[in-house]
Amino acid sequence: METEPYKLDVKDFLIKGNVGGKKTFEIKDSHKLKLDEENVLESYEGELKLTLLEEEILAEFNINYVCKTICARCLKKFDREGRLSFDREYIVGKRAADEGELIVDKEFKIEIGGPAVEEIAFDIPLKPLCKESCKGIK
Ligand SMILES: [Zn+2]
Repeated sequence: METEPYKLDVKDFLIKGNVGGKKTFEIKDSHKLKLDEENVLESYEGELKLTLLEEEILAEFNINYVCKTICARCLKKFDREGRLSFDREYIVGKRAADEGELIVDKEFKIEIGGPAVEEIAFDIPLKPLCKESCKGIK
């Protein structure tokens, strides 16, 4: 699954902020992304609340997304909307990041597209329904 990098510049927040400081950013991505054979992520948007910690930035995501999917009963395509909250930590340069940890890069940017798509893909039900009362194929 290829994701477009989506980087957020946190330079001012990092340099001017104090430990415990918070800032909220608006995020929005409308690149279409094929998640698997049946699901295409159309877009997501929402907010990202950052908190500066000693060695990390805590990033709390609150996003809405739209995914084109296929109803498990009637097999029609429909747009499914979802809402998600999750968080990630990005290591600030003071200590070396372990493998798999997210980092603030040398340009003071954090990559948020990867974690967002990962969580959205995980949120999609195995058997999505266009509506609860869908009667299936007639
Ligand atoms: Zn249906």
